[in-house]
Amino acid sequence: SSQNQFKTDVAIIGSGGVGKSAITCRFVQNTFVEVYDPTIEDSYRRGITVDEEHILLSIVDTAGQEEYRAARDQQYRQCSGFVFVYSITSEASAENTIELHKQLMKVRNPIVPDEVPIVLVGNKTDLEDRREVPKDFVKSFCSVSRRENVPIVECSAKTGLNVDEVFQLMVREIKKRNKLD
Ligand code: GDP
Ligand code: MG
Repeated sequence: SSQNQFKTDVAIIGSGGVGKSAITCRFVQNTFVEVYDPTIEDSYRRGITVDEEHILLSIVDTAGQEEYRAARDQQYRQCSGFVFVYSITSEASAENTIELHKQLMKVRNPIVPDEVPIVLVGNKTDLEDRREVPKDFVKSFCSVSRRENVPIVECSAKTGLNVDEVFQLMVREIKKRNKLD
């Protein structure tokens, strides 16, 4: 019933061009938009059922706003879960998730990093022939980021493959830490 509908805020984080808007749009509207305004930052809502529980997700599709550090820090404080996206065709975008995670940890300052729910996402699996990032990138992400267990999904916003799984995993990570409102 609507009485026990939980809601939670999730931010999509990553370099420009990795497909943050495309993943959000695929999940919320089940469509693929070839060109999305890279400067638009907005939030979108969709309900999702995870382990027989209905959750209303509010998804913040972030857009490179390095100059508005205060706004970014505010999102880092406010959101319950964070989806770190790279493109499997860009090693630089994968390395950048490590840097962006470091910034998140600076703002949240948890006792251990694993307290803050995250999911790592390698997008653009339809471009396998242009792969630059190894499938076990999550291992280096974990060791550099001092995390034990980070769920990893490889997906394609273009074909829709595994996009729902990204958000299923994100909700499970949040639920594990009882962070649903
Ligand atoms: P953002 O800057 O992270 O929001 O990235 P966008 O969602 O705007 O996507 C950047 C570019 O990558 C656009 O040209 C998209 O069409 C393309 N793109 C996004 N996701 C995929 C995907 O899964 N496969 C392919 N082939 N292209 C994608
Ligand atoms: Mg975008």
